[in-house]
Amino acid sequence: MISKEQYIESLRKMNFDLYVLGEKVDNAVDNPIIRPSLNSIAATYEVAEDEQYADLMTATSSLTGKKINRFTHLHQNPEDLVKKVKMLRLLGQKTGSCFQRCVGMDAANAVFSTTFETDEAYGTDYHQRFIKFWTYIQDNDFVVDGAMTDPKGDRSKSPSAQEDPDLYLRVVERREDGVVVRGCKIHQTGMVNSHEVLVMPTVAMRPADKDYAISFAVPADSEGILLIYGRQSCDTRKLEKDADIDLGNQEFGGHETIVYFNDVFVPNERIFMDGETDFAGMMVERFAGYHRQSYGGCKAGVGDVLIGATALAVEYAGAEKASHVKDKIIEMNHLNETLYSCGLACSGAGKNTKAGNCLVDLLLANVCKQNVTRFPYEITRLAEDLAGGLMVTMPSEQDYNNPKLRPIIEKYLKGVASVSTEDRMRILRLIENITLGAAAVGYRTESMHGAGSPQAQRIMISRQVNMNEKKQLAKNIAHIKN
Ligand code: SF4
Ligand code: FE
Repeated sequence: MISKEQYIESLRKMNFDLYVLGEKVDNAVDNPIIRPSLNSIAATYEVAEDEQYADLMTATSSLTGKKINRFTHLHQNPEDLVKKVKMLRLLGQKTGSCFQRCVGMDAANAVFSTTFETDEAYGTDYHQRFIKFWTYIQDNDFVVDGAMTDPKGDRSKSPSAQEDPDLYLRVVERREDGVVVRGCKIHQTGMVNSHEVLVMPTVAMRPADKDYAISFAVPADSEGILLIYGRQSCDTRKLEKDADIDLGNQEFGGHETIVYFNDVFVPNERIFMDGETDFAGMMVERFAGYHRQSYGGCKAGVGDVLIGATALAVEYAGAEKASHVKDKIIEMNHLNETLYSCGLACSGAGKNTKAGNCLVDLLLANVCKQNVTRFPYEITRLAEDLAGGLMVTMPSEQDYNNPKLRPIIEKYLKGVASVSTEDRMRILRLIENITLGAAAVGYRTESMHGAGSPQAQRIMISRQVNMNEKKQLAKNIAHIKN
């Protein structure tokens, strides 16, 4: 395992072809727009060094027997899955944002089991290749970005039927020693803070889509990869001089990027699927299952911060004793704990795959994520209700620092006498950050679309429930013979 400082130093060696706000960025580590997202992943290293969290944050590698960061672990049993959810809640509480490192962990667990079953069917050696790759990741304690989502173009057409053949990532050239790939992965969480990228197909495929059924891993700064940094609400506040209060969360954040693979070479030993279209669906389903489980942890953790901030905003305004306020806080907690419960439930009901690692219960993981597409919105609505309109009408930090304006702001934006106006502003800006500012990408809209939009879960729920069994149960009780 490496330290937070070693992680940050290792990123300095990366050579990304990266664009932020239209400009090429050579030093991503010290870029004020990017840095908060780097700090969030750095927290996954820092917290792992803290003895009191060792049980959650570390594990024993099933590949090498060494002590590793749990973010690189192949889950061995339901208990490991439960610990994963608890770890994500903890990190959500510590960062109040998306800490990005889960995507690679979820991808690894899906690719590990799918390659085993692909090899069984085709006599390929993808599983051994993946074990070699993942041992390298565990030994170096690297961050891996799991990359699944293609742009998809015309949604009514399959990958190979698109007018533009590049709208799903594909193999454009085959060589003796590997393949060349072209295409794009979008919404890629944490790419600029990652050492490697692990690519998977984005949908189940038919035989005609052979060139699109490709899974592989390459260094995140490989020749031919270009990154365009995603715009976030309020992102340029980070560029304002001495920005502090107005950021809401000064230290932490998340990020997404467009990852363009412009004819990138992948050596044979880093290919984990190439043309086995009938296994693309398995890889997609398993990755989605793990990532839907993840949200039962991370969103509950960020929810804890939001609920805490809301309770403070209410206290600072002297309104905490009103019965409707108490009830709304209870409702926020009820919704937040329901998300966590779902995360724990799909973990506890997990089962081992043929490859030996443990897979979440797919039905319950999809129920978990379906709730995540709704409850954070209600929690957000209640937070905005209780925080009051001041959250979005408050003057800027620059106004507050202007000697002429400060006494006016101090006097008229004060709530209870015992709390400073500055502290009141800080807590309202934090609520703004999570509900509609930079962190809203990770808490609010990502709750809707991250790990798949709501309809994707509904399709999986319909596939996973056994309707015939339910009908039979009803027939048994109603004494219907056929
Ligand atoms: Fe991890 Fe949550 Fe961010 Fe996904 S949204 S990468 S599960 S913190
Ligand atoms: Fe996500």
